[in-house]
Amino acid sequence: MNSIHEANPDSTPLVLIVDDSKFVHRLLATRLRSESIKIHSEYDGKGGFEFAKSQTPALIMLDLDMPIMDGFETLRALKDDPVTKDVPVIVLSGSSTTQDKVTAFDLGAVDFVTKPFELTELRARIRVSLQLHAALQMLSQKAMIDGLTGLYNRSMFDQRWQEEYERCVRHKHPMSLVMLDIDHFKSINDGYGHPAGDSVIAGISKMISTEIRKTDIACRYGGEEFSVILPDTTPEDAFAICERIRVECEQTVWPNHPGRSVTISIGIAGTSTQVTVGADKWLEQADRNLYSAKNSGRNQTRMTDSAGESQGLSQAG
Ligand code: GH3
Ligand code: MG
Ligand code: MG
Repeated sequence: MNSIHEANPDSTPLVLIVDDSKFVHRLLATRLRSESIKIHSEYDGKGGFEFAKSQTPALIMLDLDMPIMDGFETLRALKDDPVTKDVPVIVLSGSSTTQDKVTAFDLGAVDFVTKPFELTELRARIRVSLQLHAALQMLSQKAMIDGLTGLYNRSMFDQRWQEEYERCVRHKHPMSLVMLDIDHFKSINDGYGHPAGDSVIAGISKMISTEIRKTDIACRYGGEEFSVILPDTTPEDAFAICERIRVECEQTVWPNHPGRSVTISIGIAGTSTQVTVGADKWLEQADRNLYSAKNSGRNQTRMTDSAGESQGLSQAG
């Protein structure tokens, strides 16, 4: 399913404790046992940073005075890295100087707790940080997701398309872009009502999500139009995927209008070699192929492998 990737799908928050003192780890493990959290221990900044990068914990408790990579250095690395920059960090330190506190907050810590800590207070601070983090994550997910379909929305598509385009240029890998539009959709709304139209939009989104891989990026581009970015996928392979979606849609019997089938038209532009067109041109090619599918009678897929060096037109329908 094309959903936002979660590093820790189990809903129990993972808390990373980075401290060189075994005593602190033991103490926290015992005293935080009653909290609904999972704890992972690391004993120096480097190990902590690497673990955070691979597991994206919900919260990090970070000591300042540590070997190999100290707390400030670790905090700087965490906040510099796109994967870990939004993970809240509570600094736990034996130092109580104002300068250290100011530095920690300036570097992006959400809280600063001085050792020896009062455990009831620490537990409360952990809870607040976790709640805040969960609320912020939910908000940022909502801002990226289309409410009706659960797919990425248009603004997220624009952002992801730029990113994937740049990745494709850098790595010289194949990539395909799909534009998909429901045929004569207005007549479904007109004939069976807006809620029936909504069910069709949601149903087709599900067909798309089921057919693509986790690394593909499906978006609701506009009203009854969808876009899908398929990294590392040649236009031929994208064509096969789209044809499966097209045929499934054509054969689906819709509960609100069993006698009225729904079809889709699809345009694909991609490259099986290295890319030679700009991101906007590429999008235009996919759009042009979609409109060529519409003009040739709808319910078909049109594809070009011309975002790279080879030129050519394939079509089916
Ligand atoms: P074509 O085959 O050329 O694509 O024709 P069409 O009727 O599908 O295209 P057109 O652009 O004329 O109409 C699209 C309709 O989609 C118009 C708009 O009211 C409807 N629409 C857009 N967003 C939604 C939505 O969220 N829900 C519903 N039910 N309808 C929507
Ligand atoms: Mg349409
Ligand atoms: Mg349309």
